[in-house]
Amino acid sequence: MRIVAARLNHETNTFSPVATPLAAFGPDGPTFGRAAYESAKGTRTGLGAYVDACEARGAQLDVVLNATANPSGRVDAAAFETFAEAIVGAVRAGCDAILLDLHGAMVTTAHEDGEGELLRRIRAVAPETPLAVALDLHGNLTQAMVDAADAIVGFKTYPHVDMHETGAHAARLLFDWLDGGPRPFVAWAQPPLLSHTLRSATGEGAMQRAVERARAMEAQGLPAATVFAGFSLADIRDAGMSAVAVGRSRQEAQRAANALAAQLWAEREGFVYASEPLVTSVARAKAARSASGPVLLLDHGDNVMSGGTCDTTDVLEECLRQGMTKIGVGPTCDPRAVAAAIEAGAGARVSLEVGNRFAFGPDHAAGGPRKPMRIEARVRAITDGRFRITGPIYTGETWAMGRTAVLEHEAFTLVVTERPMEPLDLGVFTSAGVDPRAFDYLILKSRMYCRPSFVPLASAVVECDSRGVTSSDYALFRFRNVRRPIYPLDPQTRWEAPR
Ligand SMILES: [Zn+2]
Repeated sequence: MRIVAARLNHETNTFSPVATPLAAFGPDGPTFGRAAYESAKGTRTGLGAYVDACEARGAQLDVVLNATANPSGRVDAAAFETFAEAIVGAVRAGCDAILLDLHGAMVTTAHEDGEGELLRRIRAVAPETPLAVALDLHGNLTQAMVDAADAIVGFKTYPHVDMHETGAHAARLLFDWLDGGPRPFVAWAQPPLLSHTLRSATGEGAMQRAVERARAMEAQGLPAATVFAGFSLADIRDAGMSAVAVGRSRQEAQRAANALAAQLWAEREGFVYASEPLVTSVARAKAARSASGPVLLLDHGDNVMSGGTCDTTDVLEECLRQGMTKIGVGPTCDPRAVAAAIEAGAGARVSLEVGNRFAFGPDHAAGGPRKPMRIEARVRAITDGRFRITGPIYTGETWAMGRTAVLEHEAFTLVVTERPMEPLDLGVFTSAGVDPRAFDYLILKSRMYCRPSFVPLASAVVECDSRGVTSSDYALFRFRNVRRPIYPLDPQTRWEAPR
């Protein structure tokens, strides 16, 4: 038995001006063939699970591609063609099954439904070959994806800690069928509902209840049930929440998907995050100052791992307006400011511009010219930006922020980097000789990933919604492509789940 497997993961923020060329996939670019197999084997990813499952069966496995990039703007069409041709070429050579580890919210410069386009091309050369897909919980499902796949399973956790389990589940559905078990059928239901990422955590609220319902269906014998939160900042027709079920008959799958979708719709208010004005959030942070540790100001409007530019200065500027001092500011990406600091040298006093380098496009209501912030500061340190992660996420890996400068201002200490970097580890400060505990306030461009490392040393956490491309305030964006009406953009939207 010959099996083709591949991983292609990108969550596309169509409002993000950050480019996504081929080189963005992986620390050293994407890997193909033998190198893809080596890079996937033993990892806790969906593709890692496919390798494990195929080797356990003694199947001949052809790992075609391992490509994953941080969220950013649309994927270059040329990169997509390279990936699609590699996968379709391997399928065309002949195989008995296809296992794909995809995201579900990939948009390219040529196709708004990247996964649907990939699957359509695979089906053109292999219309009958059993095909299973593992997806991210933030995938935007489409009819094209549902039509092409024999099995679809998505993550049930956010933060995502069940990637391997999801891949193993998808592979199991396909192998059970190949071994003479029931043929799987996929069905889906799609309420007109955009969630907020901050309401997609599976440990609380409406999302937790929806995922528990899906788990209960599986416990009662349904082959698979998934609740997709979707990714609203991919402005495509089918953005938003959906429910996908795999059943032993089409009717069984459709009934389950409808029931889940009805629950999502009934709880729709629970998927909406009401953004607070930045001035209010910063005032709350100011009032929370404590001797027991810094107050975290989480700038989720410029969340790096959702396509943020990592360079907005709204939160810092508001803190200064409110007279706050002793502020530590995590990585702010600005290669020009880094170059200016390095030219001046450590210890020098500089006057330079930093941040707000990207002009947001016409789809961003907060567009128009944004000016960099001019600051007078002392260059406290210059480093190569490389450090080994000691925190609980990506433990042991070496990450690189690019050349890095620490700028000391009378009210704040700013880490400026050449590359965007989510502050998911204390190393973003300590590698540059800065102790994050020494501040009254810490500004971090992060929604979720900073929490395991920084919450333990903090006295309070305040979510701050800046005018970045990952803001939770949908009024900042001009949605042009998503189907309308859709809740909460259109608050009066009516919908009833099909029976
Ligand atoms: Zn996700």
